[in-house]
Amino acid sequence: MPLDRNQEVAMLHVLHVDRSELFRKVMKELVVRYGYSITSVATQAEALGMVADQPVDLIITAIELDDGSAETLIKSITKDLHKDIPAIIVTSTDSLELREKFFGLGVVDYILKSEINEERLRRYFEALSAEDELSRYIRELKFAVLDDSPLILKIVSHILTINGIEKIRQFSNAGELFASKETFDVYILDIVLPDMSGEQVVHRLRIHQKEAIIISMSRFSGEKSLTTILMAGADDYIHKPFDAAELMSRIRINARAFKMRKRLEYLAVTDGLTGLFNHRHSFELLEKEMARSRRYKHPLSILLIDIDDFKRVNDEFGHRAGDKVLEELGTCLHSLLRASDIAGRYGGEEFIIILPETTLNNAAKVAEKIRSTLAAKSFYEINKPLTVSIGAVEFRDGETAEALVNRVDELMYRAKVNGKNQVETEHI
Ligand code: GH3
Ligand code: MG
Ligand code: MG
Repeated sequence: MPLDRNQEVAMLHVLHVDRSELFRKVMKELVVRYGYSITSVATQAEALGMVADQPVDLIITAIELDDGSAETLIKSITKDLHKDIPAIIVTSTDSLELREKFFGLGVVDYILKSEINEERLRRYFEALSAEDELSRYIRELKFAVLDDSPLILKIVSHILTINGIEKIRQFSNAGELFASKETFDVYILDIVLPDMSGEQVVHRLRIHQKEAIIISMSRFSGEKSLTTILMAGADDYIHKPFDAAELMSRIRINARAFKMRKRLEYLAVTDGLTGLFNHRHSFELLEKEMARSRRYKHPLSILLIDIDDFKRVNDEFGHRAGDKVLEELGTCLHSLLRASDIAGRYGGEEFIIILPETTLNNAAKVAEKIRSTLAAKSFYEINKPLTVSIGAVEFRDGETAEALVNRVDELMYRAKVNGKNQVETEHI
């Protein structure tokens, strides 16, 4: 599944409907300040024309309009244009009846003009951005639908398609699904199948796909089958018959949880500033690579890089510029290494590089490449290069991770003592 390291900022579009030119101006300034785009109109006719023509993510409307009202506007959008767009009422008239009427029509909030403030609006914008991002995320996922009923297959695929999902494969029996050898991000499975029990299908899928989202579909037939199917590893279930909104909301809930889990996993192992692995995870990966090296008798080397005179960068350009430099250095290290190499931020301005399948000789070459690249690069914030001192060692069978790191630390220190801007390698 796609992991969003660089989340795009969604450009949401707001439609504001109000007779007052002054209030339209005020609202426009508020919305634009958040970086969203807005169209302001005075009448219902203009608003409907706009909704028919363009994607609108949020409607903010007054109650009274010259050619209609918030009520007729919202009804026309759902009934005539078949669109489901969240709406907020912003008004100067208030009564319990009005509030009840509009909440009954499905508006998300009823705000008095006197109470309108940035904080309140921001909550909606943030929620909308998150939902929009989730929709885009879901559209990227690969779906498998398994059901022995051709009608259900057709209905489910149709629901997915109208929600912008394109990667859908249909299977009418479990054998077909397993024979296809394809893997999917989301499985929507009937639990009553001719060739295998739903429980077996889920169980088999789970063995190889710990991450996939598995949603089972069943007719309401008592608790037992549901419990078994969830125990076998399904994430969720939905009762047949269901409608589009129900199915999509199950998918959204599970995709949101999945995304959050991925995000937490990412944050737990990553250094927030540089995007490299953090200290703890670097150490764990080092131990893992050491175990592999021992088992397969393959070489393994590590580098320890410390920026020379970094204090001076902070003193001269400020701590924020220092941070930016570390960030750029992280990106640069990443680009200099192979995909199988591991780069971590080991301390403030210290980095560890783990080089699997690499002898000391080759590690020294990598270190020299890093040193010379940084010494020739102009870092954006300071408009000049950085020099670094690097220690390079090869793992010796039998030593602990601590002992290995101590050795490389000593060599890095020797590089400092010998005049910095150099690589110190063990003499063998
Ligand atoms: P040397 O050549 O001996 O390594 O000198 P140095 O100044 O780089 O080393 P020292 O260990 O004396 O100081 C490290 C400096 O790095 C001091 C500290 O403020 C800075 N530093 C560490 N972490 C960060 C960080 O996250 N952001 C910024 N801006 N500076 C940091
Ligand atoms: Mg330093
Ligand atoms: Mg240091």
